[in-house]
Amino acid sequence: MAGVYIAYPFCAQKCTFCNFASGVFPRELERRYMAALLAEMRAHEWAWTPETVYLGGGTPSLISKEALTSVLELVPGRPWAEATIEAAPGSITADRATAWHELGINRVSLGVQSFVAAELARTGRRHTPETVAREMELLRKAGLTRFNIDLIAGLPAQTMESWRESLHWVLRLDPGHVSVYMLEVDDDSRLGREIRRHGLRYGAGEAPDEDLTTTLYETAIDELARAGVRQYEISNFARRGEESRHNLKYWKLEPYVGFGADAHSFDGKTRRANAETPADYCDRMERDGTAVAETTPARLVEEKFLVGLRLAEGVHPSAEEWGRFRVPIERFTRAGLLEAGGGALRLTRRGVLLSNEVLQEFLCP
Ligand code: SF4
Repeated sequence: MAGVYIAYPFCAQKCTFCNFASGVFPRELERRYMAALLAEMRAHEWAWTPETVYLGGGTPSLISKEALTSVLELVPGRPWAEATIEAAPGSITADRATAWHELGINRVSLGVQSFVAAELARTGRRHTPETVAREMELLRKAGLTRFNIDLIAGLPAQTMESWRESLHWVLRLDPGHVSVYMLEVDDDSRLGREIRRHGLRYGAGEAPDEDLTTTLYETAIDELARAGVRQYEISNFARRGEESRHNLKYWKLEPYVGFGADAHSFDGKTRRANAETPADYCDRMERDGTAVAETTPARLVEEKFLVGLRLAEGVHPSAEEWGRFRVPIERFTRAGLLEAGGGALRLTRRGVLLSNEVLQEFLCP
């Protein structure tokens, strides 16, 4: 069963930590984008009926009801087993919640990132814990009962105490699914650039160091587990049955099709990537009628390990694969980063913390 990803890269503000090709763009670009998106979806020949839909961004919670109706009308298979919309706290109204429910959306992923005012002030966000609580209530009343809350470990001004405050709010609101990301310190976000250059803007000088960020992440693993929200993937935690069916497709190498800027598709053999920026996406769609910027054959065996090992259940290597990857498997098992049992291979707790190093080895054994 396959999934559909739809990208809407427009936001009300550009958050300091964000390293996606999303942000604030002129109205005219948004108009062109929606026309291009609909054209791309209309031209798609469906080889299967999708089971899941994911509206990501950007901030798709800002899409008007009319535009969202036009987009979702082009996706066969309603009612979908899971249809998620990413939402920024502060953008949810009773009307929007009702419209989403009517359109078949049944899960809302809230980009909360933090429940602490001092941290939010440094990211460019304005919501409060009460905003999130109120909007979840609105959504529940409209019939939307499945939620995810995103948190980021490593934000400026974050301490163990403030992190526990955010975890406390998560447990109190009980979304069923939680994603915990460690701040990516790279040149693609304003905050990341500032931290790398030892600057002070965006609170960069107050960002926790790598050791503290790792400890915050480990604290989340333990606190969430104590509350019955178990880690099922490196960054994802859920009560039993609340795992993201859509995102599991990425880690289990199931097919999906992506529409919009920077959207990726996988048909079981080939990977396709659309143009990354909204402007480039619109230009290509208007000029060529397609936005595909890159097509590469999938490396199914390597990818099975690269993404499958992200899951707590691990992967089940074939006899041939055990042999092919014998060297890294033995090395990481000796180092206590991988463990084998019951025919499966999985990361240990330490392996999860050093996952980048481990996973890379399966790409070029
Ligand atoms: S974090 Fe989300 S809301 Fe903020 S700029 Fe990035 S995509 Fe937009």
